[in-house]
Amino acid sequence: MPGIGKLMRGILRYRTVDRVHMVEQFKKIRDNPEPTAVFFTCIDSRVLASRFTYSQVGDNFIVRNAGNLVPDACKFSYDSATTEAGALDLGCITNGIRHVVVCGHSDCKAMNALYDIRHECDEHSGSPLQLWLKKHGEPTVKKFSEMQENIELQRPLIFQAETENHNFEAIIDPENKYKIQDKLSQVNTLQQLQHVASYPFLKEKLSKNEVRLHAMWFDIYTGEVYMFSRARKVFMEINEHNYSHLLYDADSEMAIKKS
Ligand SMILES: [Zn+2]
Repeated sequence: MPGIGKLMRGILRYRTVDRVHMVEQFKKIRDNPEPTAVFFTCIDSRVLASRFTYSQVGDNFIVRNAGNLVPDACKFSYDSATTEAGALDLGCITNGIRHVVVCGHSDCKAMNALYDIRHECDEHSGSPLQLWLKKHGEPTVKKFSEMQENIELQRPLIFQAETENHNFEAIIDPENKYKIQDKLSQVNTLQQLQHVASYPFLKEKLSKNEVRLHAMWFDIYTGEVYMFSRARKVFMEINEHNYSHLLYDADSEMAIKKS
């Protein structure tokens, strides 16, 4: 395992290559910040969200945890305050950010672990990671069970998005390309949109389409990034061919809700 020196040598390189330019950027956005999104993703060391979105200083508020989970508001209290709700408050309310992205990924160790304990969510014991997954991953497990039943019935899954009346359908991995744990990861990513929408302080902005929810998924195996298309009901690769459709899909949802 590399020692702390590797990290420190990285800082030396940053000081030589990037520091001066970044300080200029800090000054530039200090009085006029215009961040694009609150971006929830996994802590996995391979998921470099700033890199694959080509983000610059000031672009995104990035929140990372094991499994890119956003606890449902019903599990939030003084005794169980979580950073995810705090980040939504700071991002969407204080800073007026209009987009919330939840980005899962393939070969997610947290999702692999959730898959292994999916039948034990009622048992409130285990390691810290297991407790985190059991407490906040339970809705994902329920939706995943529904998916397995629906596969036989060939029915799409239904998820809630911005409001209780704003549902969308999803067909998970229609080409059956991914292993079962990756399908769970995709279900989990979509489920988190409902959890974001569960916070009362966001409801007005969500109902007026002043805050929009998006799901993305990073494929560790190919390095490709997918975005969920509500029109097509599937995760679609973000590439030159699909870009216009995906953008239109996101924008037209806004136009429909506004009219
Ligand atoms: Zn992960």
